[in-house]
Amino acid sequence: MRWSRYPINTTKETPSEAEVISHQLMLRAGLIRRLAAGIYTWTPFGLRSLRKVERIIREEMDRAGALEVLMPAVQPAELWQESGRWEQYGPELLRLKDRHQRDFVIGPTHEEVITDLARRELKSYRQLPANFYQIQVKFRDEIRPRFGVMRGREFIMKDAYSFHASQESLQEGYDAMRAAYVRMFTRMGLEFRPVKADTGSIGGTASEEFQVLADSGEDAIAVSDGADHYAANLELAPALAPAAARAAPSATLAKVATPGKRSIEDVAAFLNVAAAQTLKLLMVESSDGGVIAIAVRGDHELNAVKAQKLPGVASPLRMASREAVLAATGCEPGFLGPIGLRCPVYADHAALALADFVCGANEIDHHYTGVNWGRDVPQPQAVDARNVVAGDPSPGGAGTLAIRRGIEVGHIFQLGRKYSEALQASVLDESGKPLVMFMGCYGIGVTRIVAAAIEQNHDAAGIIWPEPLAPFDVVLVPLNATKAPKVQELSEQLYAELTAAGFEVLLDDRDARPGVKFADAELLGLPHRIVVSERGIDAGQLEYRHRRASENEHWPMQEVIARLRERRRDDPQGGAR
Ligand code: ATP
Ligand code: MG
Repeated sequence: MRWSRYPINTTKETPSEAEVISHQLMLRAGLIRRLAAGIYTWTPFGLRSLRKVERIIREEMDRAGALEVLMPAVQPAELWQESGRWEQYGPELLRLKDRHQRDFVIGPTHEEVITDLARRELKSYRQLPANFYQIQVKFRDEIRPRFGVMRGREFIMKDAYSFHASQESLQEGYDAMRAAYVRMFTRMGLEFRPVKADTGSIGGTASEEFQVLADSGEDAIAVSDGADHYAANLELAPALAPAAARAAPSATLAKVATPGKRSIEDVAAFLNVAAAQTLKLLMVESSDGGVIAIAVRGDHELNAVKAQKLPGVASPLRMASREAVLAATGCEPGFLGPIGLRCPVYADHAALALADFVCGANEIDHHYTGVNWGRDVPQPQAVDARNVVAGDPSPGGAGTLAIRRGIEVGHIFQLGRKYSEALQASVLDESGKPLVMFMGCYGIGVTRIVAAAIEQNHDAAGIIWPEPLAPFDVVLVPLNATKAPKVQELSEQLYAELTAAGFEVLLDDRDARPGVKFADAELLGLPHRIVVSERGIDAGQLEYRHRRASENEHWPMQEVIARLRERRRDDPQGGAR
């Protein structure tokens, strides 16, 4: 492609609406344009990357034996009523009426539609297993669309759904998809981890997310440094009970005045103890409208996903209001403690390992010091209710956890029979009896991947594409071509030769200053840059630079194609093409 024919502008300025680097760079390089909140147009440059992502996904899905379909974006409400999600799905579901006042939704996902197809087409166990996938537009009316295409409202997803006659077959299908995902993300040149994930309200048996590691990621993941290779979403990672026995009490119980000191930081500073020596009581709503206290160590955080699974606790988790806490305990939040507390209490394992600790006295402006379980207050039920922290032992059994940030680009899930039961999707088994099918579902955020790749690969000057996702392989930059006919000629010749040799080349034939061309080339981030200048031609050389390199190389003109081929083979990210 000739850059002169490309009418989308690049910009130097950082767009003020873009918080994360990938969003900034995608706008600056002219890959996407915003139409409305969370709704974007893909420009020709951006679309080339998106198509490369799609191609890799399609190839690996096909290779894994999945069958491509294309389902409608607009879905009749009846199917959603049948599955029960018409009521359950919140305001993220965009509902609309047609001219006959019939209800429809714009699909945020396609379990209902595919299960409808499956119940009509799949009649016998002999047709199983089957796996259908599509690469298609979804709409979710996200409460906070942000980070550009990373969390859009309209976005492209690859969603696949498999159907099986048994749990064993589902497990096999799931394992095959997992392997296909590992291949895809590896081919895309991304640094990623499959992590164990919460199965959420669907309550299936197994679920893993594929997380691209990046500091700006919305998800926290716990990763082991040990041989167990354990990795899980922070929501899910179990915090093990401390192995060592609790220390014996050595301090006497004392009530101390802590005027106005409500937060753990203030209390710890005021009493000159570590936050890890204090007890924090979190008051949550119970499912019968009362409150439940969950005690965690002062320096630990409550884990909402774990907490909402505790018997009696409302799900989804809601923190109790000040009024509810006052009504239930007779005390102000900020001074709560387990001694004499008038509501049910759970305690996290690490909180139960404390001896001689500090906690609220259930009296305004007062705390206790030297508190000990068993001696001063009965020991509550021990639970895992906190987020793991760096340094915790790995639940995988070997190693220590570190906390990293990730961008969820894929999610695979064993659904079991949730949808096939609701929609009565069954086949006849060997003995002619109806058998409700087992299902798996497998999503990938196609548009999100482009942003995630940039989030992981950039520098101060711009994008550094992983080679397999770059809109073009090579940018060819003639300098001052209008004044030097031989520069013009050679550039045209190279453009034709490189293209014929199978490279995707962007020829910067714009009548622009060298500085502008170099800046744009770095911003757009194509892997290989070749500069054609008068001086170079006179020396029989071309100037080459890889986007990751900081120095130019001088290549003999006639060796360009051979050397570029070498580079592509050597590049670990390009090798899989
Ligand atoms: P998230 O926790 O990020 O909201 P999700 O659990 O809702 O994701 P799934 O329903 O599993 O996501 O969808 C499959 C994939 O689609 C996700 O792994 C993610 O990569 C992508 N995805 C989900 N929501 C969005 C969005 N709003 N914008 C872009 N991609 C998205
Ligand atoms: Mg979501």
